[in-house]
Amino acid sequence: MAYLGNPQNTIAVLQKYNFNFQKKFGQNFLIDTHVLDKIIEKANITKEDFVLEIGPGIGTMTQYLCEEAGEVAAVEIDSNLIPILKDTLSEYSNIEIVHGDILKVDIGALAREKNQGKPIKVVANLPYYITTPIIMGLFESHVPIDSITVMVQKEVAERMQASPGTKDYGALTLAVGYYAKPEIVANVPPNCFMPRPKVGSSVIRLKRHEHPIVQVENEKLMFDLIRASFNQRRKTLVNGLNNAPGIFLGKEKIQECLKELSVSETIRGEALTLEQFARLSNIMKNKM
Ligand code: SAM
Repeated sequence: MAYLGNPQNTIAVLQKYNFNFQKKFGQNFLIDTHVLDKIIEKANITKEDFVLEIGPGIGTMTQYLCEEAGEVAAVEIDSNLIPILKDTLSEYSNIEIVHGDILKVDIGALAREKNQGKPIKVVANLPYYITTPIIMGLFESHVPIDSITVMVQKEVAERMQASPGTKDYGALTLAVGYYAKPEIVANVPPNCFMPRPKVGSSVIRLKRHEHPIVQVENEKLMFDLIRASFNQRRKTLVNGLNNAPGIFLGKEKIQECLKELSVSETIRGEALTLEQFARLSNIMKNKM
């Protein structure tokens, strides 16, 4: 089977199987070898690695992964793509094609079975309609993960890598930053895909922290605070938290907490770093 990362070979496979793109599955297949090379290079894959690919499509990137990695598992939701993948990947013996929804597959079990519970690498050109649930689901499930290297919508990548005080900085930045160090490694224009998406794309690498970078006594409380702060972006942090459901401290106690954190009472949530949110949640926990 020829490599698929170009328009001619992709069209040949689509025609052979009379394949129709399904918009509801976010299907935009890569047709640019430079982009594929870049993803593989940045994902830093070796023969020692077990790689999980989410949404292999017709197997374009999977071919590259099979050549570089020890073992690959590729989870694809669209049943019409399964016979195609069996064909395009027939030369490789280190691939398992899993038909299923990535949000329902037991990835922990896959990592235990295929990689003896060692940290896995995730590589994907993600379906954009579920980017955030996929990434957060992977981190929150506590599956051992080394890194996640994924193509996402450009503006989502920018939100993940934003700095405090900028317009892109928000709950997603902090949630990702809690688990991993983000690095945008490539910007990818719509003409590198078939069909072309309406938005620009970026490849981002999320390298999981080996040790927690902040000390949090109650993770749920910290994420409740973060969500409350950014739900009401234009409000001061005191008002944002005072109006938030589930935080019953009252304005005065919230002001005391901010004083203890050594920040101004008029500060907005968007100015706080992850470290400050972590400390604030620890201070608040002790006052509840
Ligand atoms: N990896 C291929 C490529 O780069 O050409 C295809 C990428 S395409 C953007 C996203 C793929 O994810 C599609 O094949 C789609 O069918 C699949 N997909 C969508 N939702 C999924 C889900 N919940 N679980 C697993 N795969 C999914």
